[in-house]
Amino acid sequence: MSEHQGMHPFFAERVLGARPSATKEMTRLANQLQREGRSIVALSQGEPDFETPAHIRQAAKAAIDRHESRYTEVAGTLALREAVARKFERDNGLRFSPDQIQVGGGAKQILYNALQATLNVGDEVVLPVPAWVSYPEMVRLAGGTPVLLRCGAAAGFKLTPQQLDEAITPRTKWLMLNSPANPSGAVYSARELAALAEVLLRHPQVWVMADDVYEKIRYDDAPFATPAALAPEIAARTLTINGVSKAYAMTGWRIGFGAGPLALIQAMNLVQSQSTSHACSISQAAAIAALDGPMDFLPGFVTAFRRRRDRVVEGLNRIEGLRCDLPPGAFYAFPGCQGLLGRRDGAGRLLATDADLALYLLREAGVALVPGSAFELPGHLRLSYAASDESLDEALRRIAQACAQLR
Ligand code: PMP
Ligand code: GLU
Repeated sequence: MSEHQGMHPFFAERVLGARPSATKEMTRLANQLQREGRSIVALSQGEPDFETPAHIRQAAKAAIDRHESRYTEVAGTLALREAVARKFERDNGLRFSPDQIQVGGGAKQILYNALQATLNVGDEVVLPVPAWVSYPEMVRLAGGTPVLLRCGAAAGFKLTPQQLDEAITPRTKWLMLNSPANPSGAVYSARELAALAEVLLRHPQVWVMADDVYEKIRYDDAPFATPAALAPEIAARTLTINGVSKAYAMTGWRIGFGAGPLALIQAMNLVQSQSTSHACSISQAAAIAALDGPMDFLPGFVTAFRRRRDRVVEGLNRIEGLRCDLPPGAFYAFPGCQGLLGRRDGAGRLLATDADLALYLLREAGVALVPGSAFELPGHLRLSYAASDESLDEALRRIAQACAQLR
């Protein structure tokens, strides 16, 4: 982390060794250029551009007027944990008691709590990559060792049972699975998960962290599959994570939740009790309205995302040097950009890596994307298409123009 060099020895080694979130970093750079007067299309951070539905906003206002302005229980209010339990039963066929559920400040905090609560120095966490930027860094911050398993485009960006089997050691503590996935959009079918579960059944020391935050953002009719629903033996060592950020357009409200074995949730509550205490009381009240309320807005969200996905993928594939498959879930396009690497920009500067290309597109074209290397799969770019149709069209026009200038 270059900006920290020279600050040693005041800062902790675990921080000196960690990378800042690349999605946040690219977005910060984009905002900075925007403040300097540049026209920037920021597609670097994935969050729905829709408004939080009215009934959810109303519930938050009502909670303020009811003076729900005090501390809540560490794990979240009982009313919210009951609503979360209803969600898991209704959508996923999973039964949890409220004390098997933790609510935190976003799914991000649930992931963080779980890793802090379970990892000792040297413990290994198996991570199929590309993976969301925060997974490996959160593992490292907790003292663990991420074991990165490369799952490229040819494999549909998905982990195979053989890869998993070969990666497991006596030190493996977790397998982290994310479906639909950030950044690839890959979705695991129930059959694919069952094949992975077969391997896990032979390795009882390995637990599963299932990050289902993009559950509702899928573009085909296949039923949603999640590991805990496969078999009781797997459920007994699975933490299932979800939240309201993506499906309800509530990223800034910071509510996520995890459910799993009681002892794990208790250990995670200990971590939370000594750090943030709990998620915001008003946001918790709003999340109850989200989980128990009507979902009639969702088809509109998904239809808009599908239209944008089709348009973006088609536009990217028209650019010489980029190659993009149609992602079945989430709201990211993840084109391969190998065809453009090794070329030079107008000033003769070599674009050797995907990070060079992403910086070129930001500086020259005013489009903020995230390089695949940030997700541990170099040679790619990630574009969030959770943005207006106009800004996506403008971004495609600018990317095409800037790529055409490379020699
Ligand atoms: N998991 C994945 C895969 C994500 O992309 C995100 C969003 N950055 C999160 C978890 C965290 O979402 P939140 O903290 O907003 O619930
Ligand atoms: N899910 C988003 C992304 O990957 C949010 C930003 C973040 O938390 O990393 O862009």
